[in-house]
Amino acid sequence: MPTATRSPSRRAPELIFGDLWSFDPAPETADPKLKSRYELFINGRLVAPRGGRYFESINPATEQKLADIALAGPADVNAAYGAAARAFRTWGRLPGRERAKYLYRIARLLQDRAREFAVAETMDGGKPIKESRDFDVPMAAAHFFYHAGWADKLDYVAPGRRVAPLGVVGQVIPWNFPLLMCAWKLAPALAMGNCVVLKPAETTSITALKLAEIIADADLPPGVVNIVTGAGEVGAAVMNHPTPAKVAFTGSTEVGKIIMRSLAGTDKKMTMELGGKAANIIFEDAPLDQAVEGIVNGIFFNQGHVCCAGSRLLVHEPVADRVLARLKQRIRVLRVGDPLDKNTDIGAINSREQLAKIAALVRTGVREGAELYQPPCALPPRGFFFRPSVFSNVAMSHRIAREEIFGPVLSVLTFRTLEEAVEKANNTAYGLSAGVWTDKGSRILKMSTELKAGVVWANTYNKFDPTSPFGGYKESGFGREGGRQGLLDYCRLV
Ligand code: NAP
Ligand code: MG
Repeated sequence: MPTATRSPSRRAPELIFGDLWSFDPAPETADPKLKSRYELFINGRLVAPRGGRYFESINPATEQKLADIALAGPADVNAAYGAAARAFRTWGRLPGRERAKYLYRIARLLQDRAREFAVAETMDGGKPIKESRDFDVPMAAAHFFYHAGWADKLDYVAPGRRVAPLGVVGQVIPWNFPLLMCAWKLAPALAMGNCVVLKPAETTSITALKLAEIIADADLPPGVVNIVTGAGEVGAAVMNHPTPAKVAFTGSTEVGKIIMRSLAGTDKKMTMELGGKAANIIFEDAPLDQAVEGIVNGIFFNQGHVCCAGSRLLVHEPVADRVLARLKQRIRVLRVGDPLDKNTDIGAINSREQLAKIAALVRTGVREGAELYQPPCALPPRGFFFRPSVFSNVAMSHRIAREEIFGPVLSVLTFRTLEEAVEKANNTAYGLSAGVWTDKGSRILKMSTELKAGVVWANTYNKFDPTSPFGGYKESGFGREGGRQGLLDYCRLV
């Protein structure tokens, strides 16, 4: 029964919203079918690491151990490359329409086990279940479907030219979209007829190894895909091995540079998908409520662990106060907490190290004089969590405006003219993505030509599709993933 104290008019705004949006917990109950131990996937079989060593993968929301993961050594990486090289002799010559059948099978098996994969992804990496369920897993399946469709049409990848596979490819991926990054890497490589050795990130290997189960169930010939697990040294062994004709890396700019330095002078083909510090630009004529949703999605999707996150908000001065006020109101109702709860908007930070890095950069922002806003939400007592954070009064020289934070932290800057917006947006070492919010089509076209970014979203943000090439300018890397352009990076022209 309503009481006087429950009258919304007497309550502070955050408490009114708290009441309106308080849900009971709704935990996802699908069984993730986790094993207690995961082995390496080499030559179509699950094999123990030769060194006999394992490391733990934990759930960052509970800090509890999920499984032991095999630690690959140099001999295992050698074995994986040996298997890939042998498999290439037949896989590379198989007609595209035959390769397509395997890719379709992988896509369908992934769809069959979508719920199980979503829960496993959320438990191992900390992302909200609504994202792994509605984004990561369906998009991963979509990438296999899309590239299956290409496999028998490769004559159209480079019109007028014939294409041939490169051979064996080494691939290393990060922890922010563990399964989806596997799909981005494997699907185009396999469609084109290459064989692969892939290393997932240390904190999030489980869904890659579950994908190995699907690959085996799909009867993919042994050795076409090999998965070796471990930390950075294993990644370095995969990248520096003499066998691969190409290496594909997704991760930080810092590690990307190390790999480029060590491969300089070799004839290996390389693609690098590295960091970003994207500008999300709001003009005064933009639909502001929609733009606020786009800002929230741009920076708080996947806890901000997104290379193309809209981490720098550039707002036209006439609407800056209004946008900031609405944004603060909006983030007060974001739900931070148990990633397995279907109502959760912001889950766990992927690791203790990443949490410490985010917290340190936020402290720097405060020290440098920016103004920090964090909503008054309670955080779970265990696990790695961070409040959604918005910095205003940010200067271009601040570290929080220049460095990739890779967490739920937004830096807000303002501009007066289109030229100033372009100048500020491009004034960064990165160039992966940008967003433009305006009512004028001509302004969208002007901005998308002027912005030095691989992807420019207009009146939306963080939208992905397998048909759409994704990749960077400048220190965000080179090469494209997705679409026809992505396939070009996995073939040679003959
Ligand atoms: P990271 O530290 O560079 O790690 C990426 C991968 O490289 C991991 O598997 C890592 O292994 C491995 N690695 C570490 N040191 C290595 C070395 N010396 N040689 C070879 N491999 C090595 O990056 P992260 O912190 O995991 O991921 C976040 C970064 O990835 C961000 O900068 C983000 O912007 C970027 N990213 C870019 C894209 C894109 O498409 N442009 C997409 C997603 C993420 P361990 O993790 O096991 O140590
Ligand atoms: Mg984990």
